[in-house]
Amino acid sequence: MLENSPTVFDPSWDPFAPDAIHRLAQLYGSPLLIVDAERLRERYRRLADALPGVQLHFALKPLPHRAVVEVLRDEGASFDLATNGEVDLVRRAKVAPERCIHTHPIKRDGDIRTALAAGVDTFVVDNPDEVRKFAKYRGQAGLLIRVAFRNPGAVCDLSRKFGCDPGEVEDLIGLAASLDVRVRGLSFHVGSQAPDPAMHVEAIEACAGLIARSAANDLALEILDIGGGFPADYREPMMPIERFCAPIRAALAALPYGVRAIAEPGRTIVAPSAIGVSTVMGRAKRGDRWWYYLDDGLYGSYSGRLYDHANYPIEALNGGTQRVPSVLAGPTCDSIDVIEEDIALPLLAIGDRVVGRSMGAYTWASASDFNFFPKATVLVVDRGRLLDGSDEA
Ligand SMILES: *Cc1c(COP(=O)(O)O)cnc(C)c1O
Repeated sequence: MLENSPTVFDPSWDPFAPDAIHRLAQLYGSPLLIVDAERLRERYRRLADALPGVQLHFALKPLPHRAVVEVLRDEGASFDLATNGEVDLVRRAKVAPERCIHTHPIKRDGDIRTALAAGVDTFVVDNPDEVRKFAKYRGQAGLLIRVAFRNPGAVCDLSRKFGCDPGEVEDLIGLAASLDVRVRGLSFHVGSQAPDPAMHVEAIEACAGLIARSAANDLALEILDIGGGFPADYREPMMPIERFCAPIRAALAALPYGVRAIAEPGRTIVAPSAIGVSTVMGRAKRGDRWWYYLDDGLYGSYSGRLYDHANYPIEALNGGTQRVPSVLAGPTCDSIDVIEEDIALPLLAIGDRVVGRSMGAYTWASASDFNFFPKATVLVVDRGRLLDGSDEA
């Protein structure tokens, strides 16, 4: 892959610096999502070093792109899949299926069959009907039971929609045993962008108790999946990942013997590894404010402003220093499509570039082409070369 990929600029350039951004926009147009392979590797390694012995399954959902999967695959990552499209993507990226788990708690029979046919054999369930779906795949599939722990602190609380009550775990294990379906362990997801590790620690301790109880009932569980939730910096810096993980590591050390921990990080790896580049299509002075209309907006990469509640650091590249309150709007004809109502920017001209930082997670992934404004082109750059992200098999 690397050998054939075109060189787009000097390998010593930072792909997130203005020279590189201008070059890529000249070559590939706008809007862009520029992903830096070196930053992906660094974010993956930092988390791996902070959680030694924990197998990291990168959750594809925040940035499902083939070149991203391939870079992380080469770092030794495992993967967390939730849909047939994601199964297909790791297959095209030639990831060994043993390195993948399927974590959607609610699946159609076709989803289970597609994953099994691809060689993915570990699935997540959180209710009796879902356990029963595996009766006909006994002997082929192993289950993780997803437990819910409420987390009012997380920006996105994932324990409302999925996960069983801790008190229901024993019955689900019993139901699986009666159907001769193997339960391999427990999983949880405390919610994305956790402000501190307290919920992870609490959930690990609660799961350790459930695992011990299960062992007393003669079912040894072997896996605890601690999910995602590891934070990334936006306008507000969060706890460094090393500090965030220290108490988690301590809690994992107290797990019963023979239980292996895995995690499903998404955001913390990809968010800081990409920037969004857009261009001013037009402008108008309305009242005392300049409105700038970009070629990317809330229906595009800035969709995370709405769905993910993310505050991306946004700047203009034109070098102006005198900033005044301005409005940044997206390109569509919908009046909701405003990225920032009040942002300090220098005076911008048509054609100027605007850059959003920390835009790798839940941005392009949730973008649409509403009004037929195309989604940003994703460029994965590795030391001056462009990795092939084309989705051809
Ligand atoms: C979205 C998701 C993740 C990734 O969460 P982050 O907070 O982005 O790390 C992991 N596991 C599951 C089941 C998810 O749905």
